[in-house]
Amino acid sequence: MGVVRPEKEIEIYKSADVLVVGGGPAGIGAAVAAARQGRSVLLLEKRGFLGGNVTACYVENCNYFLAGTGFSAEGIYAEIEDKAYREFGNDNIREKNKYAFSSEYLKVFLDGFLQREGVELLLHSFVNEVIMNEDRIEAVIIQTKKGAAAVKANMVIDATGDGDVAFAAGVPYEQGREKDGLCQPGTVSLRLAGADPAVLLRNGDRLSEIGRIFKQDYRAGKTGLACKRQDLPFGRLTKGGQISYVNYACAYGIDPTDIADLTRGEMECRRYDIEIWKYLKTHFEELKDIEIASIAPEIGFRDSRRIEGLYKLTIDDMESRRHFDDVIAVFPRFYDMLSPDANMDGDGSVEGKGYAGHIFEPVKDQRTFEIPYRSLIPVNVRNLIVAGRCISADHVAESGTRAVSLCMMTGQAAGTAAALAARDGASPDKIQIRELQTLLTKQKIKLPVDLG
Ligand SMILES: Cc1cc2nc3c(=O)[nH]c(=O)nc-3n(C[C@H](O)[C@H](O)[C@H](O)COP(=O)(O)OP(=O)(O)OC[C@H]3O[C@@H](n4cnc5c(N)ncnc54)[C@H](O)[C@@H]3O)c2cc1C
Repeated sequence: MGVVRPEKEIEIYKSADVLVVGGGPAGIGAAVAAARQGRSVLLLEKRGFLGGNVTACYVENCNYFLAGTGFSAEGIYAEIEDKAYREFGNDNIREKNKYAFSSEYLKVFLDGFLQREGVELLLHSFVNEVIMNEDRIEAVIIQTKKGAAAVKANMVIDATGDGDVAFAAGVPYEQGREKDGLCQPGTVSLRLAGADPAVLLRNGDRLSEIGRIFKQDYRAGKTGLACKRQDLPFGRLTKGGQISYVNYACAYGIDPTDIADLTRGEMECRRYDIEIWKYLKTHFEELKDIEIASIAPEIGFRDSRRIEGLYKLTIDDMESRRHFDDVIAVFPRFYDMLSPDANMDGDGSVEGKGYAGHIFEPVKDQRTFEIPYRSLIPVNVRNLIVAGRCISADHVAESGTRAVSLCMMTGQAAGTAAALAARDGASPDKIQIRELQTLLTKQKIKLPVDLG
């Protein structure tokens, strides 16, 4: 038998036209876009800093797959790249991933950026409860050190990555791959100090070579390491000898919304971090002096809940380049699905859509896919929009839609749409799509629509 929670009145702590929950790429895009439409915007973030996976999990080299393709970042993401480099410079001396963020500087940049845009920010604000009035969210409840606090808003945007607000509001969802519910593994990245940049760059990019050697040795059964991850991507390299991330440790079979699983994943990955650090030190002469500078503060996930929206984007839509009249973002075709069960059989292509385990499809031939606005709109809650990796998509499609810069684009669309809905007192599915598309185009989002 459970326990009964007595009913209790909760103080209204804040109110806003648009409330954004989650301060990752999607939430940042949403909050800034809504504020730029003249709405009052409140952003709630559970951690003590902004940036989501980019800062909390060292996902710094977000757009590495665009290098040399002719594609470039758009909208608020491109603006942040530009302004963050202007404010903090770019200390990365590794040409391969030259335009990666520095997650530490980015945290500070984002504090100022959001303030300048007029977004009200509350950190340490975890949301897992809402008060419903029929099919509308009447209030969102923040769990604070002082107990529960209520926030009222005309429009709510769920940018939590995991769809926590939508879940609390009773929006149906899917999680993981269709056949068994397994998500991609969770990762706790590692940051190293003590590398010798001159040696690592003497004959090309030695870190990439080390990654290749590692994969070969893993496949030949030579590494003896417990973690089933075969890839070893390294981050920025600085003059001071910092390797800003090693994206290696993977815990498989974790439900990203389950606290017991999360605890197991954090601890398992930290063990793997120590193992790979020792392995690199002892197997690669150039890395013999490396030290662990930090272990990412939290395990990061590439997918979890995907809400049921008015339209579920499928891999068929993406592969057939389906055009949607309500398109709000176009993105280069790129998929990266880490095998949910560590099965790396197959060549990683999406053909057949059954995929053996992993998918990796680089950008090619200027191929793109579109995201329809309806994939951001939950089926059963009237004043909620979802943005980022939890939008309505099938599991393989999500391995393309999860890209950081695309999450920020869906956020930008969600924020702009929420501002229009708040202005007109309309529900988000009733706003004028042409007006939304026109505003997005003005904000430097390229859309394949004739706006007259
Ligand atoms: C190790 C790793 C490597 C990756 N590599 C790449 C890459 O190279 N390129 C790429 O494009 N993508 C990469 N990704 C995927 C990418 O990081 C995500 O898909 C992207 O960050 C999703 O953005 P988001 O805003 O939807 O969610 P998130 O980045 O997860 O941000 C969600 C935010 O909401 C906050 N939040 C969550 N729940 C609540 C709550 N209940 N209340 C309040 N706040 C909440 C979180 O603290 C966080 O700040 C990688 C992911 C991982 C884990």
